[in-house]
Amino acid sequence: MIQLKNISKRYNDGFEALKNIHLELEDGKIHVIIGPSGCGKSTTMKLINRLITPSEGKVHINKEDIAQKNPVELRRKIGYVIQSIGLFPHMTIADNVAVVPKLLKWEENKIQGKVNELLNLVHLEPETYRNRYPSELSGGQQQRVGVIRALAAEPDIILMDEPFSALDPISREQLQDELINLQEELKKTIIFVTHDMDEAIKIADNIILMKDGEVIQVGSPDAILRHP
Ligand code: ADP
Ligand code: ADP
Repeated sequence: MIQLKNISKRYNDGFEALKNIHLELEDGKIHVIIGPSGCGKSTTMKLINRLITPSEGKVHINKEDIAQKNPVELRRKIGYVIQSIGLFPHMTIADNVAVVPKLLKWEENKIQGKVNELLNLVHLEPETYRNRYPSELSGGQQQRVGVIRALAAEPDIILMDEPFSALDPISREQLQDELINLQEELKKTIIFVTHDMDEAIKIADNIILMKDGEVIQVGSPDAILRHP
């Protein structure tokens, strides 16, 4: 479980981006954080992988205060997918997916097995796609690679910050469906940021509505639809 306990975040200029946030995020679910631009969604994500630290309060992962953990080790256990895919253009698809396992010095056979398994999982046949470069893939295909790169080192937690919002509507719907199918198999703890309510309703087990640095509602898609 991920717990945010009385979290406030003031940036250096004094701006209070988060105001006394409490959240308990159950394992194995897709939690969607939704709210208008500037409400604190990305700030919340960055607190969970310790890219930034809270001004007040604590983040616990499995009952452990992440402030006590080595941030580099912590981030290796948390996959992060962002809107601008950030694939390395001079590296093949296989090498892009293998970045973190290589850092972790996995055995080469295990790495290549994992890369092939993940490419198959998102319907990019390894024989065709392994040795291509990112520029030789469509936007939707590149974003699939972004998603599996975050999965490569088998993290329990995956943070996805508007991962599909740069895609055309059809690719976007396809990737939403694939994420739902993937999750049925993988049962990760996924935190997904969007400002699109249709996307939230479609993929979420749990929706967290934010506004002006505060959490204003938490519940299942059904509950949120019944009490908008
Ligand atoms: P969202 O992801 O919901 O769009 P953010 O969490 O990125 O919102 O930002 C929340 C608020 O904090 C915004 O008003 C933003 O301008 C401000 N903010 C974000 N990062 C910084 C920073 N490094 N310094 C100062 N203000 C920031
Ligand atoms: P995102 O919400 O995806 O982080 P932004 O464009 O809001 O994207 O922010 C890009 C970077 O600039 C982030 O690292 C964010 O923390 C920082 N930032 C955002 N708003 C401000 C701000 N008002 N002052 C300083 N830094 C900011």
